[in-house]
Amino acid sequence: MDLQHFTIEMGTLSSFFNRKITPAQTEIYFDRLKSIPNKVFSEAVISVIDTSSFFPKPKDLLQFWWDWKREHVQDIAMYPRTHCPECDGDGFIEYIDHISGGYVDVRLVRCAKCNNWRGKIGTFVPAMTKASLREKGFSIIEKYEDRHIKPDPVLYPNLYPDDTPAEEACPF
Ligand SMILES: [Zn+2]
Repeated sequence: MDLQHFTIEMGTLSSFFNRKITPAQTEIYFDRLKSIPNKVFSEAVISVIDTSSFFPKPKDLLQFWWDWKREHVQDIAMYPRTHCPECDGDGFIEYIDHISGGYVDVRLVRCAKCNNWRGKIGTFVPAMTKASLREKGFSIIEKYEDRHIKPDPVLYPNLYPDDTPAEEACPF
């Protein structure tokens, strides 16, 4: 996990639990947690927010990572992942098709630049690149959390007509 992603997610926890953490504590947390991939850490943070009454200790977040690995061990053994910057190694790219009635319609395509989709997604799902999706006018979901929160109109300009405030376009 990179430090920038870590800092953003810790900021989320800090605000949610209304608890300040010192730079020294942040350093210790990062040292203990840096082996967790960005996306799994985001999932861990969401899980803590959904299920915990207390600001997590490093062991709580590590436990999520250990459980995650145990659940995914079979996939990892059968279809070893290759490094792929296009899809972050996931094998798929998520994009927003449209917003309807306040709901974001998230869809996905197979990553056209790797085979990491094997064992997860059938070949009937089209394989595309981010560039080809953007050419078609779709907004790529870059961050896992954006599936759950109101998309930032700066990051996802195609979602909002120019004269519609984001609040009205996507009221959740
Ligand atoms: Zn890929």
